[in-house]
Amino acid sequence: MAASDKRDARATRIVATVARNADKPGALAALLAAGVDVVRLNGAHCEPGEISRRVALVRRVSRSRRLPTGVLLDLGGPKIRVGALPGAPLSLVNGQTVELFPGAGAENAPGGAARLAVTYPALLQDIEPGAEIRLDDGRIRLRVDKRVRRALFATVEVGGRVKSGAGVNFPNSALSAPALTAKDRRDLAEGLEAGVDFVGLSFVRSPAHVAHLRRLMARVAPDLRPWVVSKIERKEALAAVDELAAVSDVLMVARGDLGVEIGLANVPRAQREILAAGRRHGVPVIVATQMLESMIKDPTPTRAEVSDVAGAVHDGADAVMLSGETAIGAWPVEAVKAMAEIAREAEVPDAGFVREDVSPPPAGDFAAVVAHTAAGMARDARAVVLVVYTESGRTARLVSKNPLSIPVIAFTSSERVRQKLTLLRDVTSFRVPPTRSVEALIRAGDAVLSRLPGLAGAVVVEISGTAQAEGATNTVRVRRLPR
Ligand code: PEP
Repeated sequence: MAASDKRDARATRIVATVARNADKPGALAALLAAGVDVVRLNGAHCEPGEISRRVALVRRVSRSRRLPTGVLLDLGGPKIRVGALPGAPLSLVNGQTVELFPGAGAENAPGGAARLAVTYPALLQDIEPGAEIRLDDGRIRLRVDKRVRRALFATVEVGGRVKSGAGVNFPNSALSAPALTAKDRRDLAEGLEAGVDFVGLSFVRSPAHVAHLRRLMARVAPDLRPWVVSKIERKEALAAVDELAAVSDVLMVARGDLGVEIGLANVPRAQREILAAGRRHGVPVIVATQMLESMIKDPTPTRAEVSDVAGAVHDGADAVMLSGETAIGAWPVEAVKAMAEIAREAEVPDAGFVREDVSPPPAGDFAAVVAHTAAGMARDARAVVLVVYTESGRTARLVSKNPLSIPVIAFTSSERVRQKLTLLRDVTSFRVPPTRSVEALIRAGDAVLSRLPGLAGAVVVEISGTAQAEGATNTVRVRRLPR
């Protein structure tokens, strides 16, 4: 393998959130060199201009490394927060009554009563007596007693100190908030202009939200077609995970909000359900949030964190994600290195392991049928590599995390497609020049394969199409490469 194409032998991908601390080329280069495959920009914390500046920096550093890097713009979505408090944080004690009203700003409470503004315009329409309200990452629990014309009154069941901007969740209420806020639309326009590869949809509840985002993207940037990452963090999304997987390009187990919405003890099961839905639909899954949380402060992870990352890899996660660890932490490069090492070690028992839970593909989806057949062929022929020629990246997606866990070498003529493939487990991509015929394309691929170490005389299974067009995948063959 040419030096410029070499990644460490790790199949699981690493997504790392970056913020101001990676705004210098040296800092970003150090993160990428430590093993980051996809850079995540958290729209919730981006000022105007920051998205385009950071995408440009990622592209510049990646060009100098001669390796593709994916960029995920994670839209903040309709995250609901406590409005600005007039003074110091408010201490809520068990049994106390709290008045909640829709708004962003504070009013001084008459007689010192607890009053909280909540940044959700439909608060009084959507939230009914009996509903649970969680504040500050779920730590504080309130129960709604009554609703009047201008406010809700709730009793504190589990108290604590509330600060301005604390997150608010309504675990057992159906919310009518649109999936995208005005800020999301501005961030999306900036991200599309800058050429992001993935767009994260926060608090998605139904396939209609994904369709809406795709329509918007098609209107603004019809040729770009970034992959949509549906973040599963609401109960409704978990209940509709198969429908969401069917219309999404990627799923994310967004354990932060999900943990508040369904209760922490239910998150591991939900994670496995989401991973299983990803396998059923040939859709990659990112496992996110608090994976190496202690590394925000400390240079080494805890044993529990190591087990968590390894567990996600064993369960077939395509990518594992770092948030605060790399965005604001004191040890960002160490966190990426730790994650890469844990993933690599966790993959060892997987080599050659055949997963049995692969469902048959939909009959009319030829690319999926061919990908399924290729995996079976690779198993029977003891192939060491799957080779795939891909126009849009979809065929590579379908053979990534193949049940054999063997490496996939993907060829494409598009650098943009290569950037998307950075999220796929098992996949290493190479760019081949556009050619006039499929035969010429395969010759170009063969020239690359002949330079890769260990492949002379190896059995490979190869997927291609009889035309060089998107959706034309229809051919699979097994062959031995020349010695
Ligand atoms: C999450 O809630 O786990 C998540 C990834 O989303 P965010 O970081 O945007 O809150």
